[in-house]
Amino acid sequence: MNTLKEAKYYEKLSDSMVKCTLCPRYCVIGDGKSGFCRVRENKGGRLFLTNYGLSTYMVVEPIETNGVFHFRPGARTLSIGSVGCNLGCKFCQAWKYTRSFDKSTYFETYSPEEIVRYAKSLKLDIISWTFNDPISWFEFVYDTAKLAKENGIVSLFKSSHYLNEQPLVDILPYIDVFSVSIKSIRDDFYRRLCDGSVMPVTHAAEVIKDHGGYLEISNLVVPTQNNSDTDFTMLVSWIKEHIGTEVPLHFARFHPDYLLMNVPRTPIADVDRAIRIARNHGLQHVYSGNVFMHPGLNTYCPSCHKLIVERKGECITIKNVDPAMCDSCGTDLHIVSMKRQESRSRSIEHVWNPEIWAIHVQIENDCDQTTTVILHHKFSTAHQVNHPEYEAITVLPRTNMRYTVSMIDECHQKTLIVYDDPLKVRVFDNLDRAYYEVE
Ligand code: SF4
Ligand SMILES: [Zn+2]
Repeated sequence: MNTLKEAKYYEKLSDSMVKCTLCPRYCVIGDGKSGFCRVRENKGGRLFLTNYGLSTYMVVEPIETNGVFHFRPGARTLSIGSVGCNLGCKFCQAWKYTRSFDKSTYFETYSPEEIVRYAKSLKLDIISWTFNDPISWFEFVYDTAKLAKENGIVSLFKSSHYLNEQPLVDILPYIDVFSVSIKSIRDDFYRRLCDGSVMPVTHAAEVIKDHGGYLEISNLVVPTQNNSDTDFTMLVSWIKEHIGTEVPLHFARFHPDYLLMNVPRTPIADVDRAIRIARNHGLQHVYSGNVFMHPGLNTYCPSCHKLIVERKGECITIKNVDPAMCDSCGTDLHIVSMKRQESRSRSIEHVWNPEIWAIHVQIENDCDQTTTVILHHKFSTAHQVNHPEYEAITVLPRTNMRYTVSMIDECHQKTLIVYDDPLKVRVFDNLDRAYYEVE
């Protein structure tokens, strides 16, 4: 597949020069040359992305690996990365494919359709854009996330968010989860160690919040560089004032890498101190990262301290009936879960019967927005077939469609069809292959 694609965000200047407007660097690029990220190239006075669909890694992993603990805890994601990055962090933990461009790290090229098909074939409904920084192949991420949404698949954007406002606002409708890395709240840290500045990053986090997007924040704790009490206090004070105390915050350990080999691995005591400071400032959900077993990995109810989600390495166990709300005291845990989606305004319960083993679900969407209908299948305990408990039907704007839903096996007891107002949903028994019941 051709990995060249004309960039979406740039201006033509005189003498075949172009100015890239995707990120705050605003690289001015001459013919035959590349921008700072090395994946945007001027060819004859037009700017091209050179890594459209070029993937280094594709991994199935828990969503927690992406610095996300409060969106469907324990869900599996199809995680994908490419090459290049628009920041120049001296402590980059992924420099082999962000900066070195070792050709041996290029594995495969994909089209957006192939990625969506692959996620579906693995029965995964979350695609995570991660490993390097999705800004590097923004146009590909945009195209795939849009297609994924049309297919009921959620996208997670794990990034430094060193990104201009317009592209961020453009991609917001197609991204369901933002994992925002704020490396420090101090501008001098960004200038000294990242070849960037902090303001575009904090602005991006505010834009996501103002647009009602879902976000979690991570901070990589680098010993001697951003691990003082003042560093932690400044960061959590900014989060409290500008984003809110309910946003999950992760303090992750650094390991010596790239140009910062002389700095030791972050002691767990530093992470514990950061967590303490954040909690003392009123942040409700503060976590550790890059540790195998640590109390800071678990989710506890902030009111009664009941254990809600236990995490040991990649083993995630939900200890609450609904991870969104504490069983013991009813406190809202600010967790987006499939079960919480059930508590949307309306639902229809269909009880299965082997005589009528299929139904038509008629869905009418009179609005201008895409929405989803959740199917929650309930089975008896003898159920053996590996079928997801939840499925999402994407409903496009101004459509009136019927979807066939079938009984899965003899242990399939019920399907709960969950939807929001103002969708109109009706269920018809499907008695025969050619049967199409009308009122
Ligand atoms: S995306 Fe790349 S080319 Fe564009 S401004 Fe940023 S670093 Fe420069
Ligand atoms: Zn509680």
